Amino acid sequence: MARPLQSTMQEVPLTIADIFRRGQSLFRGSQVVTFDGGTSRRADFAEVTERVTRLAAGLRYLGVKPGDRVGTFCWNHQEHLEAYFAVPLLGAVLHTLNVRLSPAQLAYVINSGGDRVVIVDAGLTPLLAAIRSQLTTVETVVVVGRADTSGLGVVFDYNELIKGSAPLREWPVLDERQPAAMCHTTGTTGDPRGVVYSHRSIWLHSLATVANFALNENDRIGLMVPMFHVNGWGKPYAAFMCGADLLLPERFLQPHPLLSFVVAERPNVVVGVPTIFQGLLMAARAAEVELDFVRLGICGGAAVPTTLMQAYQPWFPLIQAWGMTETSPLGMVSFPPRGVVEGDSSYWHYRSKTGRPVAGVALRITGDSGTPLPWDGKTVGEVEVRGPWVASSYLGGAGRERFRDGWLLTGDVGTVDELGYVQITDRTKDIIKSGGEWISSIELEDALLAHPAVLDAAVVGIPDERWGERPLAVLAFRPGHSADPEDLRQFLTGKVPSFWLPESWAVVAAIPKSSVGKQDKKAIRQLQAEGRLEVRRLVRVEAVWADRLRVPKGRR
Ligand code: ADP
Repeated sequence: MARPLQSTMQEVPLTIADIFRRGQSLFRGSQVVTFDGGTSRRADFAEVTERVTRLAAGLRYLGVKPGDRVGTFCWNHQEHLEAYFAVPLLGAVLHTLNVRLSPAQLAYVINSGGDRVVIVDAGLTPLLAAIRSQLTTVETVVVVGRADTSGLGVVFDYNELIKGSAPLREWPVLDERQPAAMCHTTGTTGDPRGVVYSHRSIWLHSLATVANFALNENDRIGLMVPMFHVNGWGKPYAAFMCGADLLLPERFLQPHPLLSFVVAERPNVVVGVPTIFQGLLMAARAAEVELDFVRLGICGGAAVPTTLMQAYQPWFPLIQAWGMTETSPLGMVSFPPRGVVEGDSSYWHYRSKTGRPVAGVALRITGDSGTPLPWDGKTVGEVEVRGPWVASSYLGGAGRERFRDGWLLTGDVGTVDELGYVQITDRTKDIIKSGGEWISSIELEDALLAHPAVLDAAVVGIPDERWGERPLAVLAFRPGHSADPEDLRQFLTGKVPSFWLPESWAVVAAIPKSSVGKQDKKAIRQLQAEGRLEVRRLVRVEAVWADRLRVPKGRR
């Protein structure tokens, strides 16, 4: 009997070393630009890769061995990028630390990661010093810039370490399944959980990032998402893979400095969460600046308001993407389907969707018992994903309930239509269940944001004796604007099912945000529960509820 046919293809490990070598040899002239709030400093990939080889030697001198964890407590800058490569090239694991965590969470994350070395920005040393005595695994701290280092223990200066080290020429041979990097979730529901990425998952995710956004060596990527938030959404590695410039705004993510940076450096691809794009938009409008040099905006991390995408449309498409720490993060992107172009009636319908799964990511929605639900654009279920850059477990075996039959339960609920477009309607922890029916906070917020006076909106469920829960709309108005809740309710009428119309309203100066700039609904619910929101009630719920029976079936 003939032997079964074998593939004749090579098996080459997919590692960060391969990405690094591309940047080092093919794209020597591509740039890394770091903003300092006023001017920018620049280095080309030739210089950056040379410094990476020295940093790797320096870290080895500090005792970093394959498998060791090196934490980074840094904003977006060239040195952070150098660590992105030097650490995994040594076979060690880059552990990016969220600079906005509470002291207790930060100590927890560093200890549970087991970091031996932490690289820290001079400006952030007080935060690290405050918890230094609680850190059980850290031996050495490396400081980027000049700082008071008292209380940090054994300290090295980052640039001295690089200057004093000869370039490392012999790199360890890496297995593609070896851990390369680690991120913790922001821990909005309990302790942050660690996700450990492999060389292979990062390589594949980088290729997916390059492919889905057609990134190339003519691009200049403005990375307005912190590099501690899910590996800077994979853009640093993607830039090295394809030769795009990387423009790093350091800690200057506030609207006005960010606008100065964007205007001075003219990125043609910009990346960030909705809050950042909202701020940039306001600053650009106030300064009467046209951002038409951008070809693509990539926005995600939270639902992207349709009005925000529409506001950017005269300049460039602000495309919605979806992802999680657990998905590296790229999972879905919302480009409209073939043939649907601007001006078509369905164009904004598709642009407003959360997205379609990218190649490599499989997706399904399931009901309570885990049974797959139909892709009809109406049936609501929990989104599950799987793929080569999707987590199969958490560090230390936490959160086992999030994994089932090889699928990750995302904790997001929504619908999928016949073409595979997902609409996330809520996170399971934020769902509003009223009289046994779901109310989508995301869709309500999107509808509220279309009102000209509304700058920001968050809808949370509050306990209600009769209906279990009812929506509370919390609003922040644009400077110099306001609107009466009665009028806002009128504005929503006809746009959402009547039983969704909130009767409880509160106005705040700013919606509370999480450490990565997303709405912090837990904090909002807490404010409400503690009576710290001035809530205005409009009409009796019963009157609204009478309309419930008229809701079209698909919206339930
Ligand atoms: P955390 O879970 O701590 O907020 P992540 O950054 O991993 O940290 O957040 C992932 C979550 O962000 C997703 O599960 C989802 O709820 C939300 N998210 C990301 N992108 C989108 C999007 N385009 N639309 C709606 N929600 C999104």
